[in-house]
Amino acid sequence: MILIDGKKIAAEIKEEIKNKISALVKEGKNTPGLVTILVGDDPGSQIYINNKGKACIEAGMRSVTERLSADTSEHDLLDLISYYNNNKDYHGILVQIPLPKHIDEAKVIEAISPEKDVDGFHPISIGNLVLGKDTFVSCTAAGIQELLKRYNIETSGKHVVVIGRSNIVGKPIANLLMQKNKYANAIVTVCHSAAKDLSQFTRTADILIAAIGKPGFVKEDMVKEGAVVIDVGINRIKDDNHPNGSRVVGDVDFPNVSKKASFITPVPGGVGLMTIAMLLKNTYKAYLKYGG
Ligand code: NAD
Repeated sequence: MILIDGKKIAAEIKEEIKNKISALVKEGKNTPGLVTILVGDDPGSQIYINNKGKACIEAGMRSVTERLSADTSEHDLLDLISYYNNNKDYHGILVQIPLPKHIDEAKVIEAISPEKDVDGFHPISIGNLVLGKDTFVSCTAAGIQELLKRYNIETSGKHVVVIGRSNIVGKPIANLLMQKNKYANAIVTVCHSAAKDLSQFTRTADILIAAIGKPGFVKEDMVKEGAVVIDVGINRIKDDNHPNGSRVVGDVDFPNVSKKASFITPVPGGVGLMTIAMLLKNTYKAYLKYGG
């Protein structure tokens, strides 16, 4: 079994971007910039936003975080997005989701210019992804493909089974891996909560991608011998043996499934770390394509 080291690959990608940006600085050029917008004070979102900002700075990008109070109106948020849509110093705009209930999430995502949609959630980005056109792809989905690529895992003609159909993970990764290109070309099955006998599908997967949000849900008997297992889940569970009384686990029963898998991603240290690395990559791409 080979452990897919997301920490190492994410560090490599960040280093690659950092080198590209320092070359821009040497040439006296403008550098890529990312604005992250947080509405409210959700602790999980705060951590994500801080990590994103830190990663940008480490890579040499410009980064600004707009922290808005939980009672910010939809109108004010849309105004701020419009300001950054027209700001030439910021090439990527990320609005941290979930938003407070009084704000229409879809409306906010649609307000971001598709040229700055580094999260890849805009309907135009998603449409382009489905059509197989070059576009911004959801950072988690792009991160999964990058891991497969950097570990030379063949996807062409392989059966990929995705568990989960969310707009941010399940749907984009399924669409990405079915495209007719070198790092995709897979036969993709998408499973979701309506599946009556999930194992019937998962046991036929050469590559199994779990994006469910249920700790240890994928058991050994659901996985084919030698399968590649990608665990997207980030679940916090109670653990009294742990200093802060809890720890993070994935959607896969790692101790048992790892005995059967040919490759597997750990949690933490797998897909999660790739998300921020791909956000930097998408921001750099936005800069090159539309802003440089
Ligand atoms: P979601 O809740 O939007 O979607 C979960 C999906 O799982 C749904 O489509 C549902 O149909 C499916 N599902 C639930 N129970 C099922 C069952 N019994 N059988 C088959 N399918 C079932 O979740 P999401 O936003 O896609 O996130 C999934 C997990 O990935 C979460 O743990 C989340 O924290 C994690 N996540 C990680 C990253 C990362 O950077 N690594 C990014 C996004 C989400």
